[in-house]
Amino acid sequence: MKIIGDYHTHTPLCGHAVGLPSQYVEHAITMGLKEIGFSDHAPLLSHCDPKITMNREQLPLYYEMIEDVRQRYAKKIKVKIGVEADFLPGFEERTKELLKSYHFDYVLGSVHFMGRWGFDDPAEREKWTSKDINRVYRDYFDLLRRSARSKLFDVMAHVDLVKKFNNRPTEDMTGEVQKTAKAFKDSGMVVEINTSGLRKPCKEMYPSLPYLKIYCQAGVALTFGSDAHLPGHVGKDFDKGVILARQAGYKEYVVFKRRRIEKRIKI
Ligand code: ZN
Ligand code: FE
Ligand code: FE
Ligand code: ZN
Repeated sequence: MKIIGDYHTHTPLCGHAVGLPSQYVEHAITMGLKEIGFSDHAPLLSHCDPKITMNREQLPLYYEMIEDVRQRYAKKIKVKIGVEADFLPGFEERTKELLKSYHFDYVLGSVHFMGRWGFDDPAEREKWTSKDINRVYRDYFDLLRRSARSKLFDVMAHVDLVKKFNNRPTEDMTGEVQKTAKAFKDSGMVVEINTSGLRKPCKEMYPSLPYLKIYCQAGVALTFGSDAHLPGHVGKDFDKGVILARQAGYKEYVVFKRRRIEKRIKI
């Protein structure tokens, strides 16, 4: 279990994470990880919210902060510079421009918004009560497919985040996930096992085992992420993540460099 890289970690620049990047790196070393990638929330292009993402002026600082730990820890661990960017319909061109202004090792794509509704934001949780849950799930998977087709991202993050508050659909979503997995495969998109769901009301990793099997069968490659918003969560529950990956049929995961798959590593 010492080979896994954690590709989903944050920094205080997003306004809702704590700890210095060096503390995240130190914890990764303690956990025996060989690689850590930072993927803090990239500036939102639709609106500004200092509690959700860094702003545009902070992006150079973010890059410098991670470049600094990359160099300082080079002998102990590989540090990759990524970013987690929102898929916002209508903002594709601006997102593309933002992402190409830096040499990122990888870009995580995320769907956190349906229109202006931040459906996974605890502050907007009560809006779920007025929603048709099946409809929300179908809209969510549609946004994932559009994210993949946009080719803006390398890895899609937490691909069933819609279950976060444990709102479960009454209809079977297997067909939606199959279509989504095919869209990922067709656009070379990678999927992640995100262990943070275990710490949320849904109490399971993203995605669930039945969904992950569908991605594996479709031939979609895999990364691992803790979605750490504090240093102690780096690499958290990766033992369970590896079990889930193997149960789904995965035999390897991938690491990125300069937005290309650098290596495939056996699990
Ligand atoms: Zn966050
Ligand atoms: Fe996210
Ligand atoms: Fe995240
Ligand atoms: Zn995330």
